[in-house]
Amino acid sequence: MPIPTENVGSLPRPTTLQQALAGYDAGTTSREELTREQDAACRDSIERMEATGSPMVTDGEQRASSFATYPLTDTLGGTGLADHLAADGQYFAIFTDGHHRQLPRLTGGPFRYKTYAADYLEQAIPLATGPVKQAVIAPSMLALLYPLDAEIEGYSREEFLADLVDECEKDIRKCFEAGAARVSIDFTEGRLALRNDPANPWTGRNMLGEFVDLNNRVLDRFSADERRDIGIHTCPGGDMDSTHSADVDYAELLPAMFAMNAGYFLIQLASEPDRERVYRLLGEHSRADANGVPQVCFVGVINPQDPRVETAEEVRDQLVLAAQSIPVERLGSTDDCGFSPFSIDIKPKHGSPDVARDIAFQKITARVEGTRLASEELGV
Ligand SMILES: [Zn+2]
Repeated sequence: MPIPTENVGSLPRPTTLQQALAGYDAGTTSREELTREQDAACRDSIERMEATGSPMVTDGEQRASSFATYPLTDTLGGTGLADHLAADGQYFAIFTDGHHRQLPRLTGGPFRYKTYAADYLEQAIPLATGPVKQAVIAPSMLALLYPLDAEIEGYSREEFLADLVDECEKDIRKCFEAGAARVSIDFTEGRLALRNDPANPWTGRNMLGEFVDLNNRVLDRFSADERRDIGIHTCPGGDMDSTHSADVDYAELLPAMFAMNAGYFLIQLASEPDRERVYRLLGEHSRADANGVPQVCFVGVINPQDPRVETAEEVRDQLVLAAQSIPVERLGSTDDCGFSPFSIDIKPKHGSPDVARDIAFQKITARVEGTRLASEELGV
C-alpha cells in the first residue's frame, strides 16, 4: 500500500469571508450573507484540494470559528456563544509573537455542544467527489473551560468532565455517521502543557497526564476497528504565522502522546530543527499495538507558517529518511498543522490570507506528489 497522506483540517479563510465575519459581529452583515460567503469558501476549498490530487479532503473549516471553539460559538468575536458560557475564560495560548487566544468560561451546567463538527461535514460531503475527513477538538482542550481552581456551584468538575466526554464521543460518532472517512482530534494543548509560562496559569501544572487520561476516556468508547480511523494531531500551535510551544522537546511529549489509543497521529515535523532525531523518537515510542490498533505516524513534511513552497523531492527525501526509523507500514505524511486554525488570521508572513490560500494548495500538491515519489522509491 502506498504511503498515506492527509491534511490536518483548516485553510486560510478568504479576505471576503473574514470581512463578512467582522461585519456579522458588528451587525452590518446578515446571517444569510455570511452563510453565502462560507458556502462559496467551502466549495472553493474542496474543489481546489481535490485538484491537488489529495486522496482525502476537508472543507478547510471555513464555517468554523476556530478548530477549538466551533462547538461553542459562531464567531471568534463571540456572536452566538452557547449556553452556560461567558466570553472571559482563560488564555488557551500565548504565541511567541505576543498575541494570545482566549477560551470562553463555563458558568454552569449541563455542558452541551451548540454545533457538532458533523453539522459542517454534512454540507461538505455533497461537494466532494472522494473521501472527506473531519477534524474535531480534543476533550483536553475543552476541559480548560472549567475554572482552573474554583468549583462551579451546582456543577462539579466531575459532572462537567462526564458531560464533556459524552459530547466529544458524540461529535466523533456523528462525523462517521455523516460519512467521514477519518476523524482526527486536534491536540495542540498537549505540547503546550509542558511549557511553564507564568503569564498563562494553566501551563506549568503538569496537566499532560490528565489530558491523556481524559482523551483515552473518549477513545476507549470506540472499537479497535473504529480507532484505526481516529487520529490525534500534535503541533506547537499555528496562528498568525506564529507558534506557542515549539521550544518543548518532543522527547518529553511523545511517551505520553502515544499512550493514547488512537490509530494514527498527525505530527508537526517540517519545522523541527532536528527532524532525524524526532523520526527516531517516533520509531521508539509509537506502538505496533495500541489496544488492538497499530499507531501510524503521519510526519509533517510541509510548514504552513512558511510561505516558501516545499518541493516534491524534499518531501520524498524526508519520508525516505523517516522510513529508516519508522516501519513503512506505519508511516504517513501530513502538514505540520492546519493552514489557519482560527477563522480570523491575516497570515502576516504571507502578505494576505488570499495569497496564503494559493500557497497552501501548492504546498498540498507538493506533499501529495512527494509522498507518491517516496512510495515509489521505497517500493510500497
Ligand atoms: Zn496544529
